[in-house]
Amino acid sequence: MKKLSGLSLGLLLITSTLTQAQTKDPVVEGIVKEATENSQLEKLAHELMDVIGPRLVGSPQMQQANDWAVAKYKEWSISAKNEKWGEWRGWERGASHIDMVYPRVKSLEGTQLAWSPSTGGKTVTAEVIIIPDLADSVAFAKWLPSVKGKFVMTSMLQPTGRPDYNWQEFATKESFDKMKKERDAQTEAWTKRIAKTGYNGRTLPAALEKAGAAGVVGSLWSKGFGVNKIFGASTKKIPTVDIALEDYSLLYRLAESGHTPKISVKADSKENGLVPTFNTIAEIKGSTNPEEYVILSAHFDSWDGGTGATDNGTGTLTMMEAMRILKKVYPNPKRTILVGHWGSEEQGLNGSRAFVEDHPEIVKNIQAVFNQDNGTGRVVNLSGQGFLNAYDYLTRWLSKVPDAIKAPIETKFPGAPGAGGSDFASFVAAGAPAFSLSSLNWSYGNYTWHTNRDTYDKIVFDDVRSNAILAAIMAYQASEDPARTSREKSVLPSNAKGEPGVWPAVKSPTRKGGVE
Ligand SMILES: [Zn+2]
Repeated sequence: MKKLSGLSLGLLLITSTLTQAQTKDPVVEGIVKEATENSQLEKLAHELMDVIGPRLVGSPQMQQANDWAVAKYKEWSISAKNEKWGEWRGWERGASHIDMVYPRVKSLEGTQLAWSPSTGGKTVTAEVIIIPDLADSVAFAKWLPSVKGKFVMTSMLQPTGRPDYNWQEFATKESFDKMKKERDAQTEAWTKRIAKTGYNGRTLPAALEKAGAAGVVGSLWSKGFGVNKIFGASTKKIPTVDIALEDYSLLYRLAESGHTPKISVKADSKENGLVPTFNTIAEIKGSTNPEEYVILSAHFDSWDGGTGATDNGTGTLTMMEAMRILKKVYPNPKRTILVGHWGSEEQGLNGSRAFVEDHPEIVKNIQAVFNQDNGTGRVVNLSGQGFLNAYDYLTRWLSKVPDAIKAPIETKFPGAPGAGGSDFASFVAAGAPAFSLSSLNWSYGNYTWHTNRDTYDKIVFDDVRSNAILAAIMAYQASEDPARTSREKSVLPSNAKGEPGVWPAVKSPTRKGGVE
């Protein structure tokens, strides 16, 4: 080791004193202690994910979740309310049961898509056929009447149900390359097959419905073992179901080999008319600058194939737990600390866009927004979102965060303003300093994001605990900072065409959704 100069030694002493000072902040210590010794995360996760369940916009479960969150905050002596921002088609998932009944009997793993029509209390039994590969839309129109009374399969047969990482590990290179080449060719051929019908993925189900099909059967494989993405249906009268890759492939191969497989489908969803939609808002009032806001942010809604555990149950838990802890160890913040649990993020950031539109008085007085919405993992990325001076205040606030939590966070300053992806973008567009606490991957994209496997068991509680500590300390620091944060925007790099970069525009929410 190089001999230390007097100056370095002095710096070293100052640094170690600072480190000591950092760990001695009683509020920071209190946050860490409460988060680790009295964590409520497991209990909250059980109540939200297991008991209430997924939170599709317009579903009774979304409303139950809003009411549950308000009750929790009241229990913690934090004032909270549900704020109406719009209306949505009310739809309630019921039991869906899908069986193969010919050429042999097998219960299939599958479910109705969100907003899919029910089977009206009946079980519908019919043959399953595949969209054929025809010359053009004229030939398809001629074939179309033959769908009458049949279930129509609209997804490609996957050549493998094994994820690529599994092939990577065990296949010979030749075999893996061959599979990928064949899959690419099949995918291209399938895209052409659908295009030649004259319809697209959204309009084809409607055409099948009009021609008298019994139902639409798809399979949106998410490229992992046993995992499918479950989105919404576009049929109005007949059910649309998603069947797991394994069972879908079985039906497909049987249909292709001329074994005329039949399935029976019973889908019991309910239509509940137009229902109000809410954001849950809670706040700890500021003591000296109550009109200035630090906002903790996470969308509350989810898709409903699983229980929305990591999208965005974990973001929700992070912010609820941070609020609970703050109320206990920092009950009199300088600025108001507000938490927004937004509705209908999944359909286009609707809840947060409505909040920004409805509350200019809050938006102009935002000190900082911290949003979390990309899974259960520890936060590892933080971008300045294009705000020129974000480096200054974010790094200052981060300096108070314990090393184990702070060290893995890669910062990027000034960064680029996010135009979408999650609710921070609604605030960034309005010029308010809003940031995304971006998580470690944990196979989010393939295994949990919008899938039927986004469930409680995928939550990594230690990581969520670490994120709750981070969110609470950042909120505490943003609240205490003697200075207001700068909103100055950086000059954005020019785009591919050489035109100057443009800050994302504020967008209005959809206030009445799911209806024509
Ligand atoms: Zn999300």
